[in-house]
Amino acid sequence: MRVYYDKGLIIEAEGLKFLLDPRSRADFHSANLVLVSHGHSDHISGLIEASENVRVGASNITHEIARLVRVERDRRFLGNTVLMDRKHGFRTDKYNVLAYDAGHCMGSLQFKIDTGEHLIGYTGDLNFCESITERKADVMDCDVLLIEATFGSEEYVFPEREEIISEILAYAEKNVSDGVPLVLIGYSLGKCQELTSLISKGLGCDVLAPKQIFEFNRIFERYKTGLGKYFEIESEEAREIIEGNKYVLLLPPSYLGRNAPEKLAKAFNLPKPPKVAICTGWAAKNSFFFSMQQAYNIDAAFPLSSHADFSQLLEYVSAVEPSIVYTTFGNPVNLAKQIKKRLKIKAQPVVNKMQQALETYSINQEPQITLKTDINKPKTPEKAA
Ligand SMILES: [Zn+2]
Repeated sequence: MRVYYDKGLIIEAEGLKFLLDPRSRADFHSANLVLVSHGHSDHISGLIEASENVRVGASNITHEIARLVRVERDRRFLGNTVLMDRKHGFRTDKYNVLAYDAGHCMGSLQFKIDTGEHLIGYTGDLNFCESITERKADVMDCDVLLIEATFGSEEYVFPEREEIISEILAYAEKNVSDGVPLVLIGYSLGKCQELTSLISKGLGCDVLAPKQIFEFNRIFERYKTGLGKYFEIESEEAREIIEGNKYVLLLPPSYLGRNAPEKLAKAFNLPKPPKVAICTGWAAKNSFFFSMQQAYNIDAAFPLSSHADFSQLLEYVSAVEPSIVYTTFGNPVNLAKQIKKRLKIKAQPVVNKMQQALETYSINQEPQITLKTDINKPKTPEKAA
């Protein structure tokens, strides 16, 4: 069996080739199966670019997200996707595949491939604690585990989620009751569904969001549950809500730029510059806030993440008890080292030249659909995470 990275994770076993979360221009043709774990832009190319004779496994929701992106980019609709769901999969005469919840964002899956000789588990991005919108990731029973290592470094240990959530709520409540416009920044897919529910239901306050987040919220509600009251920022209701001064505006990180408060006030015609706060796991490190404050003049940063932190990654591996672990994305070298040292389980990083360092916060890391108000978006290259 071989595991390596070549524009996607590749597993070769028993004469079969599995391509996991391929990126653009991966070798789709030689793969027996492509699996797409979730809808973030650095994972979804398999659904957008694989040719029609390649079988692709993904969840209903991820497939729907890919269709949104494809319409925008004028890509072909793929009819060859095998739609999968938690504890469901499919069988062929050579292998079986079963899907599990990854807890990362709506539609995110882990996969277990049974080749007869090996039980191989692939987590994709995962969250090993319950969030407002997602269940905790399932523990797969497998011998070989491929796990993401986004926060695979000791410095990324998050406080309890309840604690982070109450801090965000208290912060939002204070600003809203003081009549200060507030912008919360988070990835459109995943984080912003959680923030919509938190603000709308938890605080009882209206949420405004650009079309991209609005569309994702609608998909979430169609498949899962209601998120409360939210409005598209360009709508007439939103204008009235802004005048009433009791709302929180959610935006993806791509809206950040120099002097963000002034620019956002101008772009959205807000009565005064808003306070801007970022919700991301990278905020677990103190230096993150100071560098973002310097770069974008933000007011606060909260370590609310859709990924497992360092301790949860170890906890997950320990619960699975595989005979070997391959670590990938983010900080695979350190995570493998710590798994060997602390859990006494064989582990090795899958690296390529894009992945030798811990990923940093990337402001363009998600599918872009339509941004009606395109204000001074910094041109940062997309990163692999
Ligand atoms: Zn992701």
